[in-house]
Amino acid sequence: MLPDEAQLRALRDAHPALSPARALRHLTARWLGAHPHLVMHGAGNTSLKERGQDGRWTLWIKASGRDLGSLAVDEHLPVDLDLARALLAREDLCDRALAAALALPGRPAPSLETLMHAQIEAPWVDHTHPEAVLSIVNGPDGAEQIAALLGPGTAVVPYARPGLALSRAVQRALRPGVRRLVLRHHGLVTWGEQPEDSLRDTLRAVRLAEGLLRPLSPSPAGPDPAQGWGQLRPYLERLLPGDALAWGASEEDLALAAAGVTDGASPTTDHLARTRPWLLDGADPARPGTSASPEQLAGALARWTARYQAYLDHHLPPGIHPFPARPRVITLPGVGLVGAGGSDREAAVALDLGRSALRVRARAPHPLVDLDLGELIAMEYPDA
Ligand SMILES: [Zn+2]
Repeated sequence: MLPDEAQLRALRDAHPALSPARALRHLTARWLGAHPHLVMHGAGNTSLKERGQDGRWTLWIKASGRDLGSLAVDEHLPVDLDLARALLAREDLCDRALAAALALPGRPAPSLETLMHAQIEAPWVDHTHPEAVLSIVNGPDGAEQIAALLGPGTAVVPYARPGLALSRAVQRALRPGVRRLVLRHHGLVTWGEQPEDSLRDTLRAVRLAEGLLRPLSPSPAGPDPAQGWGQLRPYLERLLPGDALAWGASEEDLALAAAGVTDGASPTTDHLARTRPWLLDGADPARPGTSASPEQLAGALARWTARYQAYLDHHLPPGIHPFPARPRVITLPGVGLVGAGGSDREAAVALDLGRSALRVRARAPHPLVDLDLGELIAMEYPDA
C-alpha cells in the first residue's frame, strides 16, 4: 500500500524538485491504479493539499482522464486551493467556465472533480470506483445498505453528473462528522490526515462490501471455448466490419458470460463512451449457457442496434454526432467475452470495462437499479 523508503528515495533522486509528500502522493496514486477492481483506464482521481513556503495552499490534483496506474510524475497538477474554493461559491459558474478558470497554460486540464477534492479539509483524498461498493450502493436499497455497512461518518451522495453538479452535491453532503462519501452510480471518496488513513478506509469499504456479494457461479463445462470462438469470430467480423475484436476466455470471463446479467447499463457512468450503455447478449435463448448461432447473433445485433437508435432518437440533443450504433462488449456463453473497437487497444479496453461492469452486476446481492436514459446519454456524450 505505502511505498518503501527505497522507492521514495529513487523517485526523489530522479525528480529532485518533488517534495516528500508529492513523491508519496505519486506512488500511492499509482498503487490505487494497479488494482483494476478499484479503478481502471483513466477513472478515479487523487489529490494532496500542500502548504508552500509563502503560506499558500496548493491542491495537487490528478490531470483529467489520465490513468492512475501509469500516471507520470507531473500529472498531479497544482491548483490554488483558495481559488478552487472560491469557485465553488460562484453561483453563475457553468462547467465550461469552471474548466477555463482552472486551466493551466501549457499543461493538461486538472480533473473535472477538482472542486470535490478542494472542499474536503483533509490533505489526502482518494476517489475510486470500487466494484464491490457499486454492487451494493446501486441496488434498490443501496444507499441505506451501504451507510449501515460502512457505519457512522458515511454519507451517500445521490447521483449527480461529474463536474459542478457533483461538487455541489458533495458540498450538501459534507456535514460535520462525515468521514467518507459513497457516490451512487459512481464510486467512493475517502480522505485522511495521512495517506494510509485514506487508503485503509478505501480498502475497509471494499472488504465490508465484498462480504455481502454473491460468489460467481462457474460456467458449466462445455466444448472448448477456443473452438467456439474460431467458429463465431468470422461472423462477428462480418457483422462489425472494420472493428478490431479482443477475446477473453479466462474462467472468470466464461462465468461472467454465462451469468445472465447483460440486460443493464454500465454501473459506473464514465465508462459509457467506451462500452455503450448496453452489452450485446450473445446467448442462445433456447439453450441457456451456450452461445447463439451465427443467425441468432445477427438477430440479436439487429435488436441491439434498433434499441440504441431509438435511444439516440429520443435523448441525443440535435447537432451532436453519434457514435456508430454498434455494441462494444459482447457476451458469448461457453465462448467468453468480446471487446470491440476501432483499434486493438480500444477493443482491449472495451473488454476490460465490460468485464468490470459484468462483475459488478453478477456479484450484486440484488438486481441493480439503472440511471435513466437521459443521464446515460449525458455521460456517453459529455459534450452534448
Ligand atoms: Zn469518478
